[in-house]
Amino acid sequence: MNAVARKRLVIGNWKMHGGKSANATLLAGLCAGEAAIDQCDLAVCVPFPYLEQAQSALAGSRISWGAQDVSWRAQGAYTGEVSAGMLVDFACRWVLVGHSERRAMHGESDELVAQKAAAALQAGLTPVVCIGETLEEQDAGLTSEVIARQLAPVLALGRESVAKMVLAYEPVWAIGTGRSATPEQAQAVHADIRAELTALDVPQVRILYGGSVKAANAASLFAMPDIDGALVGGASLVAEEFLRIAAA
Ligand code: PEP
Repeated sequence: MNAVARKRLVIGNWKMHGGKSANATLLAGLCAGEAAIDQCDLAVCVPFPYLEQAQSALAGSRISWGAQDVSWRAQGAYTGEVSAGMLVDFACRWVLVGHSERRAMHGESDELVAQKAAAALQAGLTPVVCIGETLEEQDAGLTSEVIARQLAPVLALGRESVAKMVLAYEPVWAIGTGRSATPEQAQAVHADIRAELTALDVPQVRILYGGSVKAANAASLFAMPDIDGALVGGASLVAEEFLRIAAA
C-alpha cells in the first residue's frame, strides 16, 4: 500500500500506429472491457488526426484520451505544430511530453520539455513528462545524474505545477526492445524520483514506468511501492493485452 494514496494509472501510447478502421476495432475492444477495470485510471494517447475518433468512441466510458506531443507556443506561424488549446478542443485530458523518441529524433531539450509541460498545464491538460537514460548512460553509471538533469527544469516550474503532472520513467533501452527493467531496477529509480517529489512536498504525484510493459510483467512491476502504473507502447495496440495490464 502506498504511504500516500495514489490511484494507479495506465496510459497507452499508440505512437505512429493505427488507421481509422484498426482504431475503431481497438477502441471498441477497450470499451467492451473497461467496465471490469475499476481500480485504475485508463487512458490512450493517440496520433493527432485520430483525436476526434478517440473522443467520439470513448466519450461516456471510463477511458480518457490525449496526445503524444504539444507545442509550447499558444498559436502563430509555426507550421506543423499543435497547441495545447487545440488538444482541449478535442477534450483531451493528457499529453505526453519529452518522450525519448522526440528527445532523440527531434532534438527536444530538457528545457523545451519543461516549456511544453507548462503550456499543457496552462491549458488545463495533464502533462505526462517522460524521462529516462540511454543504454550508454546506464552502462556509464549515469542514470541518477541523467534523471536529475532531465527533471531539474520541470521541478523548477514549482510545487503547484508539479502537483498537477504525471511523471513517466522510461529507460530508453527498455522501450520497444522487449527488455523491460526488472521491478527492482525500476523501483530504485522511482524511489530517487519520489525523494525529489517529496522534497518539493508533492509525494502524491504519480510516477509511471514505461519500457516493454506487457501483461506478463505488469503485476510484478506494479507490486513495487513507487511504481504507480505504466506507460505502454506496443502492448497498448491490442485491446485484450492492454486491459490485462490494467487489470494487473
Ligand atoms: C513507449 O513508447 O512509451 C513505450 C514504453 O513503448 P513499449 O511499451 O513498446 O516499450
